[in-house]
Order: sequence, then structure tokens, then C-alpha cells
Amino acid sequence: MTQTGTPAAPDAQPSVAGARFDSLDPRTGEVIKSYPVHDAEHVNAMVVRAGEAAGWWAEQGFAGRRTLLGQWRKLLVKRLDQLAEVVSSETGKPLDDARLELVLAVDHLAWAARHAERVLGRRKVGAGLLMSNQRATLSYPPFGVVGVIGPWNYPVFTPMGSIAYALAAGNAVVFKPSELTPGVGHALADTFADALRAAGHDQPVLQVVTGFGETGAALCRSGVGKLAFTGSTATGRRVMVACAENLTPVLIECGGKDPLIVDADADLDAAADAAVWGGMSNAGQTCVGVERVYVVEPVADEFLRRVVARAHAVRAGADPSADFGPMTMPAQLDVVAGQVRDALDKGAHALVGGMASVRAPYVEPVVLTDVPEDSTAITQETFGPLITVNRVPDAEEAITRANATAYGLGASVFSAKHGEEIAARLRCGMVAVNGVITFAGVPALPFGGVGDSGFGRIHGEDGLREFARAQAVTRQRFAPPISVMTFTRGKRSMRRIIALVRAVHGR
Ligand code: NDP
Repeated sequence: MTQTGTPAAPDAQPSVAGARFDSLDPRTGEVIKSYPVHDAEHVNAMVVRAGEAAGWWAEQGFAGRRTLLGQWRKLLVKRLDQLAEVVSSETGKPLDDARLELVLAVDHLAWAARHAERVLGRRKVGAGLLMSNQRATLSYPPFGVVGVIGPWNYPVFTPMGSIAYALAAGNAVVFKPSELTPGVGHALADTFADALRAAGHDQPVLQVVTGFGETGAALCRSGVGKLAFTGSTATGRRVMVACAENLTPVLIECGGKDPLIVDADADLDAAADAAVWGGMSNAGQTCVGVERVYVVEPVADEFLRRVVARAHAVRAGADPSADFGPMTMPAQLDVVAGQVRDALDKGAHALVGGMASVRAPYVEPVVLTDVPEDSTAITQETFGPLITVNRVPDAEEAITRANATAYGLGASVFSAKHGEEIAARLRCGMVAVNGVITFAGVPALPFGGVGDSGFGRIHGEDGLREFARAQAVTRQRFAPPISVMTFTRGKRSMRRIIALVRAVHGR
């Protein structure tokens, strides 16, 4: 992450002092703790250690790992408030938002541990007509060590989508949290180490490296079996370039510009609530947050009235009654201000807030309407509590505009009768019908995007397979009736097999 914008508070940017940097509370700018900036040599050593631990972890088998991950889950729940405090202090988000993040992560951890054997364990598959003398099996062994690079906006939930699934699949993990949330990374790893120790094991199965982009880049080049990245599209490209050097496979989870479509038969109260919460909770710093709303003309006035009323009631602040906290990353203040200015200059109307809403370190809710589709508030990720609401003649036009972006992460559709039909036509990885972001809380569903939002999936069966490599095995049960895979095959064998294929596939 580049720190170039207006600071949230004096000296609020992490400062490098020798080989250390400070983690700060974005609400006050106060230093919470300092952490080492790990260089490539250190990262490589951690990956070597992880490789040794990976052997032990793999030996535990699915059942052993399930038990130990269960111990971790219980400890996370026991320390929920303590961990939520760490998340809240490093991101500035309200404590209950931090608790919610932990609750969701714990549920994913439980699902991954419970389902890993069914999804990844060796199973028999049909050998097919031509190889009917073979027993064919498929399994998904782990890579060994997986590198995980995470963002700061959901510093538990987001990386845990990779960490929990990678561990359940049998890998050791080296985790590089964002420079803004190193304490959260350590809290997660410490809890896991404590759970292992309580069970009598002292193994570095989950380790943390801290620092800036260079530390992340070193992890990409360290020889890990796979690298799971969550962050911005620009950094995702750099991660791929670094991983390409060793042909290290990558999982790329990037940003989004998620639309919310409101059709004529929508429940307008529910849609307005979803637009405001989906767009503004966590100060809008949500990869699958609502950024663009398209509402069909017949219900637009009614919908806008409801959105405005709700957005007026929402407030940023550091006190316990605030709905959301500050912008965690100071540079984001300039991005939001720039998008509001650009939209207003191009003719958009501010229904709630405006330029004055940006007052460091907070941004108060902003609702813009009649926003030209070439405004940066429509074309670029905002990552702030700003939503655009544009009128469209019908759902058809809403779909066209929703799809007119290089991103393709999530979406929401509000319609009593046509929700799933509209959802099927959206170019994105996840859609919530008559809801918002709900897909992220269903552990069985894969999470990920298309286009500039990245590729690969966390969560669900796909998320488990993402952290394993398919291994196919055939074992001969008896000699083949027609033997063609040998230099000693005769012309008769070839005639017989071609006749067989003609009979089966040629008609
Ligand atoms: P960044 O891309 O700035 O950083 C992400 C991570 O990559 C950080 O840990 C960062 O370290 C690290 N990094 C930076 N440079 C490099 C490099 N050259 N090589 C390797 N790693 C590097 O994203 P943010 O942290 O600002 O997160 C916000 C972005 O994340 C948004 O675009 C958001 O949409 C996206 N996101 C996507 C999600 C998804 O699941 N699709 C979920 C959550 C967020 P450092 O912080 O130290 O610079």
C-alpha cells in the first residue's frame, strides 16, 4: 500500500524507524505497537521453518487437523472480545463490527475443518470404457507452504478465507498482514500457537511476517507452494509478476465496484436499508460493498426518499454509538474527495453530504444521484461511505450498466419476482438477491471475482481445492482385454478398439 494522502491525524502514517514500523490507531494517530520490517532473508527463513512444520501438519491427517483447528476455533471464540479490541484499535471500526468479522471467520474455520476430508480426501472415480481394467482415484494433497498476503479492511475475515482453508487442506501458512494491521496478524497466529501448545505441540504451522510491500514481494519470491493475495488490483498485478519468476501459482482476490439493482417490484425499505448499510458500513471500506445503485424509474423517487432518510441517520465517529469509524488508510480520504468533486463537476447532485463530508480522519455519508457514467465515482473503486444512485428506464438497462465495469466481484438485486433471473445475467462472482453481502457468510459458497476483481476462489469446496493440487492415480486391476498402450500391440487390437469407439461414440 502506498501512503500518500492526507494523514488521519498528525504523523498517522506508519513510520519506519530503522528496521521497525509503528502500528497506529487511525482514530487518534497514537502508536499502538512497533513491529519489525522483515527482509527477504528473514522471510525465506520463515518459509523454510514452515516447510518443516508442514510435514508434521500433513502427518496429522484430516482427523488430527480437524481436532486441532477445532481447538483454535474454541480459543478464538473465548478470546473474541480481546481480539475484537485489537481489530478495532488498528482499523478504527466499531467493536461490534470487529466482533461480527470474527464470528464470520470462526464459522468459516469450522466449515473448512469439517469438510476438508470429504472434499480433498482420496476418492474413487469412474475409470471409463477404455480403461475399465483400472481403478482410478483422485486426491488433493497440500502444496506444503502457502503464503497469504492480506489487506487491512477486514484484517481477520479476509485473510482467514485463505488461512483457514489452506490449513484445513494440510498446508503450513506464512501470513503477511497489511502494514496497518500487523497486530491482528500476530493475534491470529498467537491464538493458533496457543491452541497447538495446549494440545502438547509446538510447531510453527502459522507464522507471521511484517513489513511493507517489499516484505510481501519477498514472500512471493520465497518459493512457497502457492500465494494467496487479497488487496488492490494494482498490487495484485505486481504479485503475479513476482510469483511468475518461480512459476508460483496465485490466488488473486482484488477490489470491486459492486452494483445494487432495484427493480419495480422490489421491497423498497429492504433495498434502501441494504444500499445504505452495504455502501457505508465499515466506512465503505468493503471489497463487496455497494458502490453503484441502479433503480428503475417507476420506483426511483420513493426509493431515493428512503435512502436519504436512512443515510441522514448514519454517523461516523470514534464513540461507541457511531455507525462506522474513520478511514483506516489516510490516502483514501483524497480518493473519496476526488470522486465527489469529479461527479459534482460533471453534473451529479448530492442528496446527502458532499465535499464537506470529508473531514479527516472521517468521511460522513455521501449519496450522489444523476451521476454521469464516466465519473470516477462510477468507474473507479471508491472504498468510502459514498454511494451513487442512478435512475434507469428498466431492469435491462440496469443490467447493462451494472456489467459495464472491468471489475466483477459481487452484486445485489432487489426484486420480488425476477431476482435470480437478473442475477444470472450479471458478470460477477457472487450475487445476493433481496439482501446484501450475504454470500460471504455462507461457508459452502465460493467467494471471488472475475476481470479486475481477480481469479480463484476462497470459501467452500472450491476454496479448499484452491489450496491443494489434484493428484490422479490409476492402478491396474487386471490385464486389459484390448492392449494398445504397448509397442507389442498388434493390428488386430487397434482394429478392435477403433470398432469399439465407433460403436460407442460414433453414432
Ligand atoms: P493493497 O493492494 O495496497 O495491499 C494488500 C497487501 O499487499 C498488503 O498486505 C500490502 O502490504 C501488500 N503489498 C503491497 N505491495 C506489495 C508487493 N509489491 N508485493 C506483495 N505484496 C504487496 O490493498 P489494501 O491493503 O489497501 O486493501 C484494499 C484493497 O483490497 C481494495 O482494493 C479492496 O477491494 C481489496 N479487497 C479485496 C477483497 C476480496 O476478497 N476480493 C477483500 C478485501 C479487500 P502493505 O499494506 O504493507 O503495503
